[in-house]
Amino acid sequence: MDPAAPPLTLAELDEAVTHCRACPRLVSWREEAARVKRRAYQDWDYWARPIPGFGPEDAALVLVGLAPAAHGANRTGRIFTGDPSGDLLYATLHSLGLANRPTSVRAGDGLALHGVRITDPVRCAPPDNKPSTSERDTCRPWLVRELEFMRPTVRSVVALGGFAWQALLPVLAAAGYEIPRPRPAFGHAAHVELPATDGGPPLHLYGCYHVSPRNTFTGRLTPEMLSDLLATAARTAGLPVG
Ligand code: SF4
Repeated sequence: MDPAAPPLTLAELDEAVTHCRACPRLVSWREEAARVKRRAYQDWDYWARPIPGFGPEDAALVLVGLAPAAHGANRTGRIFTGDPSGDLLYATLHSLGLANRPTSVRAGDGLALHGVRITDPVRCAPPDNKPSTSERDTCRPWLVRELEFMRPTVRSVVALGGFAWQALLPVLAAAGYEIPRPRPAFGHAAHVELPATDGGPPLHLYGCYHVSPRNTFTGRLTPEMLSDLLATAARTAGLPVG
């Protein structure tokens, strides 16, 4: 399916993206990871396809990461699931009352998010967690369509890391928000209010250091910093937080 083609429901879009093969390098890598596997996951039947967003389609808060991990979401079939980054993220959402349980194990495990959706600007696992610029741009229409569907309810977006921030700015412009010039810079707790081009409600964009072990194991991003940032973005979006 062409992600720019109209019109689908968000659930149909989520299903359609799982069949995308537009980036040959990433298709090869995600399938190679599933063939070789990591020793600890030899008994897993890897998902090995693009990862759709996760969470209710009428969410008020959207969290945007980078791309699936080869042995994380590419294995489990759910975004931010199966690696340390996701463990901290879901535990934090649960502590704020934004998830019904603190852990995410795999697609279909009963986890539900409250008012929050999580998605990525690149839907397939890249080598070294580094998608190319052209792969990022090829995947962009999927995120544009996702945010267009959510436009009636979304009020806050959190970019988890500089890659997400840079990827989001053209996505948000395409989805109907004004991006200031010069473009706002990424930083932890950076906050920009983006007016809607159609006079609708504005969108609040927040920056947050990515929840990768590189940041959390070094203390660059502490659990308290993550919790405070997500709580602020959720409250701005009108969500009750614990
Ligand atoms: Fe398709 Fe995006 Fe995966 Fe590329 S990264 S193959 S555009 S889903």
